[in-house]
Amino acid sequence: MQIDLSELTAANDTRKECKIPIDAAVFSFQKEEYPVEEGFAVLRMHHTSDRQVEIEADVRIVLGMVCSRCAVPLSEPFDLTVSCRFDLNKKDEKKSQDPADESDEDDAYDNCVINDRFLDVDTLAFDALSENMPFAVYCKEDCKGLCPVCGKNLNEGDCGHSATAEEPKDPRMARIADLFKNVKEV
Ligand SMILES: [Zn+2]
Ligand SMILES: [Zn+2]
Repeated sequence: MQIDLSELTAANDTRKECKIPIDAAVFSFQKEEYPVEEGFAVLRMHHTSDRQVEIEADVRIVLGMVCSRCAVPLSEPFDLTVSCRFDLNKKDEKKSQDPADESDEDDAYDNCVINDRFLDVDTLAFDALSENMPFAVYCKEDCKGLCPVCGKNLNEGDCGHSATAEEPKDPRMARIADLFKNVKEV
């Protein structure tokens, strides 16, 4: 959701706190799309003076993901804290300048989070989430994964192959085995 900052910036030293829902239904990351099961941000905004805005956000997002080892669906919660400052004057100046000038990374970030006088809370939250996405998620720490012989979910019980199947001894090797399995499935 986008929120209008004009009320906040109308007077100096103004503070505002609000809880804003994240509207996007999916979070796209590295060619994957994850359904957003729950998402909101609690924003603490402070307009110091002269259109300088400080924002602290507690972001809560729950994504629908699958266990990297056994592929069962799971809801993965993320709790992130974001702190940022925006100079709304800078944005106005930029607009009148040659767009080729806007090569600075921070400016590019500012421009998509702040659009005119609107703060894009979805973008703010998703940028933070992108930086915190794990390589893999597991349904539980000791997920046993799938039987390499018959594909049975070994968390649900033994299929009888485990005595003969070669078990990965090292969790890092298990991770690599998982990667190869994923490549094969694609
Ligand atoms: Zn699992
Ligand atoms: Zn089996």
